[in-house]
Amino acid sequence: MNLCNPTELKALLARHGFAFSKTLGQNFLIDQNILEKIVAGAGIGEGDYVLEIGPGAGTLTRRLAQTGAKCTAVEIDKALLPILADSMAEFDNFSLINNDILKIDLRKLCQEEFGGNSFHVVANLPYYITTPIVMKLLEERLPVKSMTLMVQKEVAERMCAECGGKEYGALSVAIAYYCKAEVVCKAEPHCFMPQPKVTSTVVRLVVGEKPNEDVKSEKFFFALVKSAFGQRRKTLVNALSKSPYVSIEKNSVIEALKNMGLDENIRGEKLSIEEFARLSDLLN
Ligand code: SAM
Repeated sequence: MNLCNPTELKALLARHGFAFSKTLGQNFLIDQNILEKIVAGAGIGEGDYVLEIGPGAGTLTRRLAQTGAKCTAVEIDKALLPILADSMAEFDNFSLINNDILKIDLRKLCQEEFGGNSFHVVANLPYYITTPIVMKLLEERLPVKSMTLMVQKEVAERMCAECGGKEYGALSVAIAYYCKAEVVCKAEPHCFMPQPKVTSTVVRLVVGEKPNEDVKSEKFFFALVKSAFGQRRKTLVNALSKSPYVSIEKNSVIEALKNMGLDENIRGEKLSIEEFARLSDLLN
């Protein structure tokens, strides 16, 4: 079975009377070259545990299971269950959970499926919920080793952005706090069925054992970052002193910036993650 072959994929879907759902972000991968790059980028093999989010018809799932890793996939769409039973029938290192990835208890899943061992996440994500999925995986402090993810190109740019640019924002800081990010490859719309309107990028996020910055309060650090990027056109002093997420006096921000040798008219997007961490400790 080769599900990168559009004729074979269409025949499998037709046998089960399947109709694509736009609202569930169903764009199935049909490019063998990209498939191989995702699996090579993930660097998984026998002895590894893999969580796939949104297996679809099983194109990526089959290739992941072929590596010998123990794979568990979470799929929301009931209509895909008989299709996956068909496409994954030959693998005994695979299990499927019919649930919403944003609602499922991932710690319990990790315990039950992977015996509490650390695992890799590999997915061609549904784009409408990319950021909530990634943030859930990071914020819950699960034993995730890496995430190899197909995301919308613009989201990949925001994930990997360095400070100063227009893509740099709260997501860039969150990713830099928990991970090292790199781009694996690009995927044009013709690599999917049906074709999405956007270009995609595969990113690999290697999750550190501990965060890359040491801050007194993580909650305050992220509230500060959210405030700084919530009103990008404002100076950092104004954005923080008028933020609904933190309560800080204007003069305290000016004082802290002075202390750090930064201009009081600076905007949040000019601050590196190290500077956000330092500012957070000074203001907390
Ligand atoms: N992995 C397949 C592939 O590469 O061909 C399908 C990828 S498709 C872009 C996204 C998949 O995520 C679909 O199968 C969709 O039904 C599933 N999905 C959408 N929302 C979901 C959610 N909240 N929880 C779990 N799966 C979801």
